[in-house]
Amino acid sequence: MACEIPLGEYLDGELAADARRLLEVHLTDCAECRRRVDLERAFKEIYTTPLRPEEAPPDVRRRMMQWNLESYRADQSPNQVTPPEFVAAEHLDRLTMPVLATWGTLDVTSTLRSGEWLVANLPGIRSRVFEGVAHMVNLERPAEFNQMLREFLDESERAAR
Ligand SMILES: [Zn+2]
Repeated sequence: MACEIPLGEYLDGELAADARRLLEVHLTDCAECRRRVDLERAFKEIYTTPLRPEEAPPDVRRRMMQWNLESYRADQSPNQVTPPEFVAAEHLDRLTMPVLATWGTLDVTSTLRSGEWLVANLPGIRSRVFEGVAHMVNLERPAEFNQMLREFLDESERAAR
């Protein structure tokens, strides 16, 4: 059973002095909470520092993958097909900028269908499907993803001139 500690407030410097001192005393005694603080610090670092995925601490990468897995398992049953019912779908004809859609072949069915639906319904849309990739295309194939994005942005810039 994990201790109840105000981890986020502590790391954001939002704890009152007394509460902070109390927590710091607890941290000297509790290895599990020290580990949680270190992990959370590393996580904050990732979100505030440009970092290549392979440079992320292994603990943080494992935790992110675990979160992804848990959220998939919580939201999806196998082979569930969810038709795209987003309100934005009714306003696609208002888009005037170049659009690039990308997804991986291993993503959940609803995402695959949404991508295919976009390609079928948004004239001029560019798309790229990554074989053998799940949801985090940019993390799973960073080099290919970045190259695709650069090419798209370069082309869009040329076309706008
Ligand atoms: Zn503790």
